Amino acid sequence: MFRLVSINQRSAFDHEGSWYDLAELSGDATLADPLAAVGRHRELHALYDRCASAPSGGLVAEATLGPPIVQPRQVFGIGLNYRDHAGESGAALPPAPLTFTKFPSCIAGPTADVPLSGDMVDWEVEIVAVIGEEVSHVAVDDAWDVVAGLTLGQDISDRGVQLTGVPPQFCLGKSFANYGPIGPALVSIDTFADADDLALWCDVAGERMQEARSSELIFSIPTLVAYLSSICRLYPGDLIFTGTPSGVGMARGRYLAAGETIVSGADVIGELHNTCVAGTGPVVP
Ligand code: ZN
Repeated sequence: MFRLVSINQRSAFDHEGSWYDLAELSGDATLADPLAAVGRHRELHALYDRCASAPSGGLVAEATLGPPIVQPRQVFGIGLNYRDHAGESGAALPPAPLTFTKFPSCIAGPTADVPLSGDMVDWEVEIVAVIGEEVSHVAVDDAWDVVAGLTLGQDISDRGVQLTGVPPQFCLGKSFANYGPIGPALVSIDTFADADDLALWCDVAGERMQEARSSELIFSIPTLVAYLSSICRLYPGDLIFTGTPSGVGMARGRYLAAGETIVSGADVIGELHNTCVAGTGPVVP
């Protein structure tokens, strides 16, 4: 069991509300790098137990957390992976995971501001699986073994950019700066009573917009890992945004405005608090 966070781009544990720098705790400077740490996730369980008798760096509540994974190599997004969301989008259920890229430069911390790129920017709360091994062609039955843990994410989406042109291309509209807040912690799989069944929710400006359980996913996390790894080699720290439940702004005709705070939450993992601020839209070519 472990809860991995990052502070000043260094990996740390959150142990009962206090944080512990991994490099200091282990005496191994290479573990400061979150990508290195997640690639050694099997060792982190024993290291986490050492927190109980080690000096802490301070209280997690008083630290500014970064994303638990810094500069991942690959960030996959899955579209229409909840039945109700496919319905509200007027889309047929996909025959295979509908996969797009969020470019890694959009990844941000759990309390990062979100600069709005226009007046059609939307929220999408999602469970995010974090890969812990370099693998390809993983069998469904082996897939949980290569997942280092789960975190929570917001797949912030500029619908205007996302749906420009035919066929639409999702990557850029979902990749503006800070359009991928994740955190607050990467939680190891053994921490969850059932890693396939977590409650997740999203409030915008105090109004509950999304509420579901990850057991409603059309393509489960093991299925996603098996499918993606049959095509792309996966690396430690790679992120899979597993899809969003119903209740997004596009279906409500209501989008994010500067000054509004998005609060996203999930069982055990915790909450993201991201405030929208005025930003810059794309150049019109
Ligand atoms: Zn999404």
